[in-house]
Amino acid sequence: MIIDSHVHLFPPKIVAQRKRFFDDSCFAELYQPEKSKMVSRDELLEMMHTEKIDRAVAMAFPFENDEYRMLQNEYLLESSHETRGKIISFLAAPKNIDCLDGWMAEARTSGAAGVGEVAFYSTGFGEKEKQYLDVLLQAAASADLPVCLHVNEPVGHRYPGKYTTSFELLFDAISKNKNTKIILAHWGGGIFFYALMKEVRAAFAHVMYDTAATPFLYDERIYLIAREIVGSEKILFGSDYPLLSPSRYFAAIRASFNSDAQAAVLSENALALFHRR
Ligand SMILES: [Zn+2]
Repeated sequence: MIIDSHVHLFPPKIVAQRKRFFDDSCFAELYQPEKSKMVSRDELLEMMHTEKIDRAVAMAFPFENDEYRMLQNEYLLESSHETRGKIISFLAAPKNIDCLDGWMAEARTSGAAGVGEVAFYSTGFGEKEKQYLDVLLQAAASADLPVCLHVNEPVGHRYPGKYTTSFELLFDAISKNKNTKIILAHWGGGIFFYALMKEVRAAFAHVMYDTAATPFLYDERIYLIAREIVGSEKILFGSDYPLLSPSRYFAAIRASFNSDAQAAVLSENALALFHRR
């Protein structure tokens, strides 16, 4: 079984007329470049069929505009329902910090599998965003929902959606919220390296890392190195489709993990995390 733990899905209305939604600065930041691909459910299902992906975790885009955010969340929940769980949905949380607690409980009952991909594309990640993240992580723990957080590598080439996350602030938020299951996307921007420090390893016991966008960012040796530092039980295969197709990852994953570890990375870790055994 293969589960792709990080794909992106948008309602057909947003895919067909993306320009109409550019007044949302977060959305414009990522999707104004024409080459940024967007897909709806049918294309995702077609890809899953072709590439033999059994389930996919659809990440929500962090719209600032509540109307767009809700339109998308509804579509994601409908997608899970229509596909009887083949598409597993994460939802986008409101930007209003005071609404987080109530919203989280509702998200849980509505059938969401998690929250995210949480990202701060238009503002970057500073003190204010860190305060928001603290509250969000706490609320997610109460609702027993995992949170996927977008984290970029702090060095190297620039691309739309890349911003610097202070590892100091991130470490603080993660270590304060030990009861929240956290997925750091894109290998957590490399923060997993510090799991070689005893106190970071202990503080990150509830953290997992996904492989999203690896072929665009890292040498294939990252799989071996991450396996060595955090262990295969903490790694989730995620493609970032439609940015990249799952097939772009498999050779490197198969070369880097033995068969048990491959099963963990490609499906078992996700099944356990999303309670889908
Ligand atoms: Zn991301």
